[in-house]
Amino acid sequence: MRRTLVLGVIVLTGVVTAAMLSAQGQGREGAQGREGGQGRGGGGFSFPPIQKIEKVKDNLYMIQGEGGNTAVYVADSGVVLVDTKVANQGQAILDQVKSVTNKPITTIVNTHTHGDHTGSNPFFPASVEIVVQENTATNMKRMDVFQEAANQNGLPDKTFKAKMTLLKGKDAIDLYYFGPAHTDGDAFVVFRALGVMHTGDAFANKGQPGIDRNNGGSGVQYPETLAKAAKGIRNVTTIINGHTTAPTTWQDFVDFGEFNRLFLAHARASLKAGKSPEQAMMDFKLPDKFKGYNLAGGRGGPGGNFGILFEELKGGQ
Ligand SMILES: [Zn+2]
Repeated sequence: MRRTLVLGVIVLTGVVTAAMLSAQGQGREGAQGREGGQGRGGGGFSFPPIQKIEKVKDNLYMIQGEGGNTAVYVADSGVVLVDTKVANQGQAILDQVKSVTNKPITTIVNTHTHGDHTGSNPFFPASVEIVVQENTATNMKRMDVFQEAANQNGLPDKTFKAKMTLLKGKDAIDLYYFGPAHTDGDAFVVFRALGVMHTGDAFANKGQPGIDRNNGGSGVQYPETLAKAAKGIRNVTTIINGHTTAPTTWQDFVDFGEFNRLFLAHARASLKAGKSPEQAMMDFKLPDKFKGYNLAGGRGGPGGNFGILFEELKGGQ
């Protein structure tokens, strides 16, 4: 059983990794070359094309493809987008939005800095307000793409530290930050009246998360951050993940927190026992409920995230 799980095919995890590495400008060998070298943006990766917009709940839609999942929320005052995929997808996103509403896009929330979530920000006019967690604003300002004057309208206009609410009444959107995980600026975006949350890549999919230490991510703090989110956020039933093909549930989110706790505990024990990351991965046992998890992935090779965790635990901060 275990072997099958460990050696299972690389699917979404590889995509997320490749995108993450590419966002850091070091994706040449991302995902062990599995995504091929034809990708746009010099990152050596590619995503499926933009899909037709799909309804999640009343007034809330998602668009898959060409990067992270984009949420489209049709509020009274206009449309709020969460994440804008890779570069040069703005028109395609707008076309999908126009197929469900005539309202203008007024606001963009980026869940984190990576180029497959912020890439098409510059397409949207400066009048569109861009909101991110404050560490993500810092990270975005360091990205190559935003050094170019023509792209700087894609930088954030407004930031929050721990919590902010956008819009009012039934349209309210709560933005939360609980600490480092995938990066040091992961926002949880909650459509309050609908009980839906966009997690970005803090919960990209059911598998090993990307831990981008160059952008402040932390495998040691990851489980704690997710536990704080699970405790601090109420009344959510449905999750829009960074990179899945369908929404998941609140229980999936809670379980993902447990997965990360188990992963970290096994990393600590394995390091103490003098094991290599590869050995740690080989003898990592998970409860049955995680049998759908994909433990294969590009980052760290056969040792997966254990290599990253070992470095962090050894104090290579
Ligand atoms: Zn990411």
